[in-house]
Amino acid sequence: MLADKDRIFTNLYGFESPGIDAAMKRGDWDGTKDIIAKGKDWIIGEMKESGLRGRGGAGFPTGLKWSFMPKETDGRPSYLVINADEGEPGTCKDRDLMRHDPHKLIEGCLIAGFAMNAVAAYIYIRGEFFREAEALERAIKEAYDKGFIGKNACGSGYDFDVYVHRGAGAYICGEETALIESLEGKKGQPRLKPPFPANVGVWGCPTTVNNVESIAVAPTILRRGGAWFAGLGRPNNTGTKVFSISGHVNNPCNVEEEMGIPLKELIEKHAGGVRGGWDNLLAVIPGGSSVPVLPKEICDTVLMDFDSLREVQSGLGTAAVIVMDKSTDIVKAIARLSEFYKHESCGQCTPCREGTGWMWRVMERLVEGKADKSEIDTLLDVTKQIEGHTICALGDAAAWPIQGLMRHFRHEVEARIDAYHAKAAE
Ligand code: SF4
Repeated sequence: MLADKDRIFTNLYGFESPGIDAAMKRGDWDGTKDIIAKGKDWIIGEMKESGLRGRGGAGFPTGLKWSFMPKETDGRPSYLVINADEGEPGTCKDRDLMRHDPHKLIEGCLIAGFAMNAVAAYIYIRGEFFREAEALERAIKEAYDKGFIGKNACGSGYDFDVYVHRGAGAYICGEETALIESLEGKKGQPRLKPPFPANVGVWGCPTTVNNVESIAVAPTILRRGGAWFAGLGRPNNTGTKVFSISGHVNNPCNVEEEMGIPLKELIEKHAGGVRGGWDNLLAVIPGGSSVPVLPKEICDTVLMDFDSLREVQSGLGTAAVIVMDKSTDIVKAIARLSEFYKHESCGQCTPCREGTGWMWRVMERLVEGKADKSEIDTLLDVTKQIEGHTICALGDAAAWPIQGLMRHFRHEVEARIDAYHAKAAE
């Protein structure tokens, strides 16, 4: 369990003010000028040593991502864009970080922006996060008033601005290139890659898009050292992580814990356990709705990190833990996710546009058992045709929950089909 001395988000629950004076008492903005004075290479080197992997879902090494920003830009400005479009079902960690600890994010923007030669940061925040946008605006004003950002930020000689841009409620704008399109004032549709944003991002300029948590942990990592962060968690899965635990638990919550904590310990220590006790558990989606569901037998022992969850054919994703007890209609639950992806598909590429609707319609019939068993394999075939064959990862995200359902609960789907046909034959 994470020791209090290693906790980064000490105001995660909002027990103290999010304002700058309280934030400074908690250690934010402490020695920021000195960190900047150590230079870009030192900052990126420490971030690489920390082993931090992106907290938005993909898990790409953050320090490496920063190092991709070109040094020669033909006069084009570089930008840092913060992905605060938290729309993954089950995920609500960035919301609380921005609401209660906004200065961690703003200080992180300054340091990360400096490391990658950016002139400004745009925080693209989910439209529904009205209060959080207000909290950010307030905190940004406080930081400007203190001279921490803006001209000669923190007295470092470096000029850096931070802006908040509100989204309009499309899940797909959480995909980095769709987010960039939306930020430019266009319809939020993913771009084909390459070119990658580090070369051609917002307004055709070098851009790095990072998740809120990835940037908000950076100042603490740089104050305490990359080696400190790397000493938490497990190799290749280092540091702390904010988990969102929801569903059939006694105490749904966000909690910062060490990477690699056993899923069972996470739920029992922090979320008050599964409703009705651990034996009443049916399944868990461990990383937001886009990763495959896991049955109880795997949940008994699996660790919560990128590699452990990949070994059991699921993923850490956004670390949103959705708990389902035995009262859950698991087929209906996954069918509901299929509907979500059908609704959120931007419609740009055929496998996703047509496939998500097709999968959802079959899933709706499977909920009632109104299907032939051979359709299960046809459905799995279609998920394979979508997976990896689309412009962005929404296609994969729509396919994986169904694959997980059939991997672990095919017997339930088949039993439902048998029951439907037996009833029809009466
Ligand atoms: Fe749009 Fe879906 Fe294609 Fe992504 S995969 S670009 S959401 S149609």
